[in-house]
Amino acid sequence: MEHAFMNGVFPNECVRCAQIEKEGKDSIRTYAIKLDQTETQQDYLQVGGVLDNVCNAACQTCGPDCSTKIGSLMGRTFPIINNSSGYWSLPQDRIRHLDINGGEPSYSKNYKKILANLPPNLKTLRLNTNCNVVLHELEKIADRVEVTVTVSCDGIGDVHEFMRWPIKWDTFYKNLMTYKSMPVRLNLWTTVSILNVDDLPNIQAFAQEHNIDHSYAYLKEPAVLDVNNKDQVAVDAYIQKQKELRGMP
Ligand code: SF4
Repeated sequence: MEHAFMNGVFPNECVRCAQIEKEGKDSIRTYAIKLDQTETQQDYLQVGGVLDNVCNAACQTCGPDCSTKIGSLMGRTFPIINNSSGYWSLPQDRIRHLDINGGEPSYSKNYKKILANLPPNLKTLRLNTNCNVVLHELEKIADRVEVTVTVSCDGIGDVHEFMRWPIKWDTFYKNLMTYKSMPVRLNLWTTVSILNVDDLPNIQAFAQEHNIDHSYAYLKEPAVLDVNNKDQVAVDAYIQKQKELRGMP
């Protein structure tokens, strides 16, 4: 990976940052570089990564490695990821920037424990959420830490309810407005696939109407969901299978 970057090439794993930077926006990569440039503490740590895969949703483009809900729907042994002991083994007083991904932080006990026991010298905290439940504790945390909440939004109204099953649009919207009223930096993130690409203009209009920063990237895997896939039969088969898994009509 280091070699590719040294040659000015984004490795395949970094497609999300590459796409965002192409739009002239800050990616997780450029954001981390900027944080580093403002940091004065020696030997400080920026901590990022997947803490666990505990999640209460079964989004259409996700899988059991990221969501225990999807794993449980599959009705067989599914992966339980838990990196919390690795997190707690870090020197907490050196952690200045925390960027941890789920699973879903509002549903994970591991996440809740971290939010209740943040590192003493923490400066910034960023997390993703599906916005099914509001993390009200962030309001108090924002008194001493710069908090960024990235809300996943893969559609508006019915498209959202299909893409982010079983999260209801009304619940999502109400919670998003609650986050908007909180002293946190709020932004929206869309994973664009063949399932929701037609709704992208609506999502962009929604973000603009509500004055919320919005970024997106095109999904490449699984290939059937790539926006350039012309095999409608395969797409329909994928949708049918996903609906059956979730018991959707
Ligand atoms: S909320 Fe996130 S982790 Fe959970 S199913 Fe959706 S995309 Fe996957």
